[in-house]
Amino acid sequence: MFDGPLTESLMGRARANGLIDLRIHDLRVFSTDPRHFKVDDRPYGGGAGMVLQAEPIYRALKRVRASAGRGRKRPKPYVVYLSPQGRVLNQKVAHALSRRSWIVLLCGHYEGVDERILRWVDEEISIGDYVLTGGELPAMVLADTVLRLVPGVVKERESIQKDSFQDGLLDYPHFTRPALWRGQKVPAVLLSGHHEEIQRWRKKQALAVTSRKRPDLVPK
Ligand code: SAM
Repeated sequence: MFDGPLTESLMGRARANGLIDLRIHDLRVFSTDPRHFKVDDRPYGGGAGMVLQAEPIYRALKRVRASAGRGRKRPKPYVVYLSPQGRVLNQKVAHALSRRSWIVLLCGHYEGVDERILRWVDEEISIGDYVLTGGELPAMVLADTVLRLVPGVVKERESIQKDSFQDGLLDYPHFTRPALWRGQKVPAVLLSGHHEEIQRWRKKQALAVTSRKRPDLVPK
């Protein structure tokens, strides 16, 4: 599932350039079942669905931690469990995560994980109030959102600073060539070359767009 999003485009380049180090760990490797490499079991109390067992996750976390070497001063990863019950991801949360040097993303599946593993989880994060089949897509959403904030990953830092939510507003509208397309003109100010006026126009547009599309953001 992770091939593609993590090997293409921005993330692929950032990995190839050594700006970020991203590794995928298969829970089945840490299974307690030597025959079928099972990592799930039926829920206590009955009911539909399966639950990811705590032990394979515990072993996987232990192995990942050990990769930092030994000793009390070794770095510790910040462990995030992707869960619909967690704090909802937004640009502010992404900024805070981008300042951490090492994050482990735990993906659930089926009904979720055995609750007892949460003692080893630092935070639960949700990508929104809806339920996906597994934590893989949420993990990729989180990774992409957070990693593009890591210095150097997006070459033109300015483009991040103007993105929606950075300063509480949505982004202003963008236009490219041709200046006249199917009867629609590019706003004249953008062709004027007058830098200050363009900046003023963009700020005003950002406010107008935010009021129209996301009025809830405006008071902030
Ligand atoms: N029974 C769980 C509940 O209602 O809270 C949902 C389990 S869901 C089918 C399986 C896994 O998908 C979860 O353990 C979690 O890792 C992931 N997942 C589903 N929706 C998510 C969301 N909105 N944000 C983050 N992860 C999500």
